[in-house]
Amino acid sequence: MSGQPITLIGGGLVGALLAVQLAQRGFSVDVHEKRPDPRRAGFLGGRSINLALAERGLQALRMAGLAETVLQHAVMMRGRMVHDREGNGALQRYGVDDSEVIWSVSRGALNMLLLDAAEAAGARLHFGQALASVDFDSMRIRLATAGGGEQDVQAGLLIGADGAGSALRSAMNAHAPLGERVEPLGHGYKELEIPPAGKLPTALQQLGGGRDQYALEPHALHIWPRGGYMCIALPNTEGSFTVTLFLPAQGAAPSFATLPDATAAAAFFSTQFPGLLSLLPDFRADYDSNPVGTLSTLYLDRWHLDGRALLIGDAAHAIVPFHGQGMNCGFEDTVVLADLLAASPDDTAAVFAEFQRQRQPNADAIAAMAVENYVEMRDSVADPHYLAKRELGSALAARIPDHCMARYRLVTFTHVPYAYALERGRAQDALLEQLLRDTPNVADVDIEAAARLFQSTLPPLPELRHG
Ligand code: FAD
Repeated sequence: MSGQPITLIGGGLVGALLAVQLAQRGFSVDVHEKRPDPRRAGFLGGRSINLALAERGLQALRMAGLAETVLQHAVMMRGRMVHDREGNGALQRYGVDDSEVIWSVSRGALNMLLLDAAEAAGARLHFGQALASVDFDSMRIRLATAGGGEQDVQAGLLIGADGAGSALRSAMNAHAPLGERVEPLGHGYKELEIPPAGKLPTALQQLGGGRDQYALEPHALHIWPRGGYMCIALPNTEGSFTVTLFLPAQGAAPSFATLPDATAAAAFFSTQFPGLLSLLPDFRADYDSNPVGTLSTLYLDRWHLDGRALLIGDAAHAIVPFHGQGMNCGFEDTVVLADLLAASPDDTAAVFAEFQRQRQPNADAIAAMAVENYVEMRDSVADPHYLAKRELGSALAARIPDHCMARYRLVTFTHVPYAYALERGRAQDALLEQLLRDTPNVADVDIEAAARLFQSTLPPLPELRHG
């Protein structure tokens, strides 16, 4: 065993993968998870039912030897299928070919697979134990146990992977302020379900060009952009789709405040999302029983307390979900932290400071891009100027791949730092705006001159590692 024993709070996606990485590097790891063991009790959701896994997350899983197993339970998504009000759908590919795709995975199945892997690597998992308080002087923690009791435990190095509402963060903040700032998006979300096609009324089966048991094209992330709000749908392996409605929380119609129940919401869907509504046989029950989730971005000045405690994943930097990167970013965190700790197991103060130094600019960058992507998804994917920029950008990326790559591709299919992707994306966007300033038509742009402009203005892209 190397270094101090590690006490991990939270056995969700990031905590479970971190436990694998640390145990594989020889650390003694105990994980305390608030919920019951999902492998016995069933997965108690609460957050999105499925998620998009991209290259960064896959790379972290690869390094833990888990990528192949995860992909066996994932559905490939090649691009965005954008649905207009008239019911037409068009696929906008994410990348150049099937080497650039994202994967829809079940949160519950992934969590359980990671918990199995953590246990197999030697981590000890303790379920039904919620962190309640911490004495940082003695490093003793109090855990609220499932039966309503309490248990005091001597902690090792404390790492909080206990999500956006982190109890460890609250305890650290009470001990020495972390400079916490929460920026609410002002929009919420609600989940609905499209069942497998075979469970829909016959007239609706195979609607929308669906295949096999799916009611819609399975290999796409579906978007119904409507300006200030939208619906999206991600496929599940068993033929269903999880639909998420994103809408302002408050304010003038439409908002969750103006659509308090399924009757009001059904009337709204029948005008704004008529094709989609017809694929949601359980709309009323789902709308009335599924809660409205809130969305915020979390910023902290400090992620650690001396060499004693550290926050990781959503506990340190929760973001809004519109780039599909929260988990991916947290998975990237796990590799960086495990490598740093393995290199200097006895100098945890330096390791924690270095971890924040490396990761915080990138967490800030993906936080900013995730908010920007909300506007893009709900609005611009149907906007002609956005589409012209996208078309010109794609033509240039094919013509000069060393100098032009869409920001979405940099974020989703490479391992370049998020902060680099943000900066490079801004520079490329300014050039595309310049090239399309005098014409709405890509055909009017001299592609050779445009390529020369990119090459003379921007340095070549760095080494881009694809998976
Ligand atoms: P969590 O997943 O929140 O896990 C925290 C764990 O800690 C939980 O198991 C919880 O039970 C436990 N816990 C909490 N309190 C305590 C306590 N006091 N003591 C002990 N244990 C505790 N990311 C993507 O990459 N792609 C996507 O497509 C995507 N889609 C999303 C869609 C939505 C609607 C939302 C809300 C998020 C989405 N995300 C996505 C983000 C992703 O869900 C998070 O980034 C990811 O879950 C963070 O993992 P985590 O382990 O840090 O936190």
